[in-house]
Amino acid sequence: MDDLEEDLTCSVCYALFSDPRVLPCSHTFCRSCLKNVLQVSVSFSIWRPLRLPLKCPSCRSVVELPTNGVDALPVNVCLRAIVEKYQRERPPACPEHPRQPLNVYCVQDRKLICGFCLTVGQHQGHAIDDLQTACVKERGAQSRLTESLRWEEVCGLAERLAQEKERSHALVQNDREVVSRFFQGLDLILAQKEERFLQALDRASVLLASAYDPLIQQVKDMQEQHSELLIARECSVNILKYTKHPEALRCSHGQIQNICFISQQQFLCEWITKHWSNPRQDPCLDPFNISCSENQCTSVQKNTFVLNRGL
Ligand SMILES: [Zn+2]
Ligand SMILES: [Zn+2]
Ligand SMILES: [Zn+2]
Ligand SMILES: [Zn+2]
Repeated sequence: MDDLEEDLTCSVCYALFSDPRVLPCSHTFCRSCLKNVLQVSVSFSIWRPLRLPLKCPSCRSVVELPTNGVDALPVNVCLRAIVEKYQRERPPACPEHPRQPLNVYCVQDRKLICGFCLTVGQHQGHAIDDLQTACVKERGAQSRLTESLRWEEVCGLAERLAQEKERSHALVQNDREVVSRFFQGLDLILAQKEERFLQALDRASVLLASAYDPLIQQVKDMQEQHSELLIARECSVNILKYTKHPEALRCSHGQIQNICFISQQQFLCEWITKHWSNPRQDPCLDPFNISCSENQCTSVQKNTFVLNRGL
């Protein structure tokens, strides 16, 4: 059988011939193998038009093919028929070792193996039988197995299986309830924890407000006092020019400025010492017993402007 398979094997692809074609030199190859060879030889040669060169893979002689190439070569009909018959009748091949027939029975693994499996594969040293003996033994084992199984036992087995199934089902249901109860308890604990955390955060909010609000109010008070201080400063400058230093009218413009500045500084120092040392105290902005509303300040500023222009 091995020699026959070798004769039916293509020397290019080492598989059984597929659509075998005969070259003029009488050598035969698969149609697809010849197409591959032709493609290589055409791309590496300069040849006369309308003829395709092909070098036989066996005898290396160059043959010319017509333009329709390998398809023009005659089919080796006889060889094709033998290959088809061989494929139908040959024993199944080993899945581990391609093209090796499964012709040995491994007793240990109760499995068909090939010669390679036994000598170099996974079944080295295993007890074996030839196919005929294995077939007889397996038939005997099968009939013994059939005899040992009585119908009543089979029925009883089915009943036992049904009971076993019920018992397993009850166990699963029980486990299911346990898991449900566990997670319900977990939900309750989580809800309580959440409530406690939220309450703590609410308390933190209240604490934050009580810490920040007085500070914010204090800064606002200071801003108001600062504005009032600026207004008071301007009032003091203008009033000094009219009331406290009439002799300044006789001085030069620069001297008036100096006197005003010094008086203003003295007033501011006193005011800051009095009020900003305690920002919450209501400010008294009228050291010269006059009201310091915005309108009055504006009228004083106008008078000062007229006075300065006159100088
Ligand atoms: Zn081939
Ligand atoms: Zn040849
Ligand atoms: Zn094998
Ligand atoms: Zn084995």
